Amino acid sequence: LPSPQVQALQHADVAGLLPEPTATSDKYRRGVVGIVAGSAQYPGAAVLAVAGALRGGAGAVRYVGPAAVQEAVLARYPETLIGPGRVQAWVVGPGLGAGRAGEVAELLAGDTAVLVDADGLRGLDPAALRARTAPTLLTPHAGEAAALLGVERKAVEAGRLDAVRTLARRYGVAVLLKGSTTLVASGGETAVRVNPTGTPWLATAGSGDVLSGLAGSLLAGGLSGADAGAVGAYLHGLAARRVGGPLLAHQVAEALPEAWRDTR
Ligand code: AMP
Ligand code: MG
Repeated sequence: LPSPQVQALQHADVAGLLPEPTATSDKYRRGVVGIVAGSAQYPGAAVLAVAGALRGGAGAVRYVGPAAVQEAVLARYPETLIGPGRVQAWVVGPGLGAGRAGEVAELLAGDTAVLVDADGLRGLDPAALRARTAPTLLTPHAGEAAALLGVERKAVEAGRLDAVRTLARRYGVAVLLKGSTTLVASGGETAVRVNPTGTPWLATAGSGDVLSGLAGSLLAGGLSGADAGAVGAYLHGLAARRVGGPLLAHQVAEALPEAWRDTR
């Protein structure tokens, strides 16, 4: 893929973009992430997105969702704030299930940064996305990208570069296409960034949910949609390599401090 339009992410780019706390930081200035995820059927997706967000460097993480899922989140991460409130970025979609499109639309109608993943990607309205002014990132895997494009999954797999560019252009926002090579396109540019740090051990349940929390944390820290996606994928891959295989998704979140140090 060596082309001026396709750039491999490099260590130095990532190190330069990581939001680091300073002597005068407080938790609110470091960014608060709101997670709208999980359902009775998929409570774990919420726990894993919260894990990625907490380990992604945000000052605080706020969870909004059903009471039973709140309990699961708090049992694992007592650091989590519960219920709606002010945030610098929303992550919506992991394990959400069907029938929650109204909540997604409401977040997209606001002027806070939003990352949309998984079930949140169902039935997205291109006009609502194009009207957004705050940073916005979509994080589909090939199947979700195929549904958004109205094509077969194998067509996305055969033309991943085209697919990510087409989605970014159509919706006018940043798009991260997950898979064996993760690609990031921004709405306004033709250049696509490729993440070099992945490992096939990431092909396991829940790893995408950790990435959405992590990238949401970076959005809350002030990165653009494309930068949050690119830096998030890079750290996610480094953390997975630190764990090795067969890895569990929550271990990837817990290895993020080591991945962070690897960029130093
Ligand atoms: P999801 O499909 O939402 O569960 O997300 C899966 C995560 O694992 C994404 O970050 C993918 O990029 C990553 N992933 C899946 N398969 C592979 C693979 N074969 N090699 C590297 N990364 C992968
Ligand atoms: Mg997923």
